[in-house]
Amino acid sequence: MTDRPPVCDYEGSDYQTAFWDAGDRQYEDRVEEIALRRLLPAAGGLLLELGAGAGRNTPRYGGFERIVLLDYSRTQLQQARQRLGDSARYLYVAADIYRLPFVPGLFDAATMIRTLHHMANAPLALQQVRQTLKPGAVFILEFANKQNLKAILRYAFRRQSWNPFSLEPIEFAALNFDFHPRAVRAWLAECGFEVQQTLTVSHFRMALLKRLLPLGLLVRMDSLAQWSGRWWQLTPSVFVRAQAKGGAASAPEGQFFRCPECGHFPLNNEEVDHLRCSSCGRRWRIRDGIYDFREAAE
Ligand SMILES: [Zn+2]
Repeated sequence: MTDRPPVCDYEGSDYQTAFWDAGDRQYEDRVEEIALRRLLPAAGGLLLELGAGAGRNTPRYGGFERIVLLDYSRTQLQQARQRLGDSARYLYVAADIYRLPFVPGLFDAATMIRTLHHMANAPLALQQVRQTLKPGAVFILEFANKQNLKAILRYAFRRQSWNPFSLEPIEFAALNFDFHPRAVRAWLAECGFEVQQTLTVSHFRMALLKRLLPLGLLVRMDSLAQWSGRWWQLTPSVFVRAQAKGGAASAPEGQFFRCPECGHFPLNNEEVDHLRCSSCGRRWRIRDGIYDFREAAE
């Protein structure tokens, strides 16, 4: 349907254990939890978690009836499945955000945390997310902010060549992007979202502070400072709650997956381990409890 921008692949990565479990990132994890609790509706129907990884945030969506964990990496999803188990509440889907395998207007809510960070074409990714949402659905987006205090200081003291105030994304490592908050707001508006709330997160992400101050104190300080996101955003991480406005209708009753290649639905589910598209003939594998829409089966 669309050309595919390059995708950042965490296949086989030890991201969860190396970065989160052993990486001394309790502070980041706890302040994210607070921001999420503040922005996400307390209850809801079907939630799409984009870039779910190994399911670190999934238990925080307890008020939702069903959660679709979507990630590009099958091995991350396998870790999530080991952690959360197989139940009617969770569905594991390996897919590319630029080619989402869901019928339009399906979800009541979506979250995308630490994921836009890897999108070479962020506006296109946001557009795809918008299409899968019902009118009125809530979308919680976290993005890495190029206009953060550290980048501003480094730029001022000529330790960094790129300008933190300009609107274009900065790719500081391959497929790792920081964005300007104003650019993200403009993209959201263009694809039919209304921003309702902005929180700034991880004000004190500095090794020295983490070493000197107790974790609980840092978390409480960040919790208070998050509200200032309404007026200015100078933190490395920004959370936004946006609402899908107008346009698209809700998905037809009973419809769920569509073919990511040609957009056709419904998919034929007569085979146990595949879904088949009757329009383009492609077959999409179901393996180890994971619906795999990355590439069509042979
Ligand atoms: Zn098809």
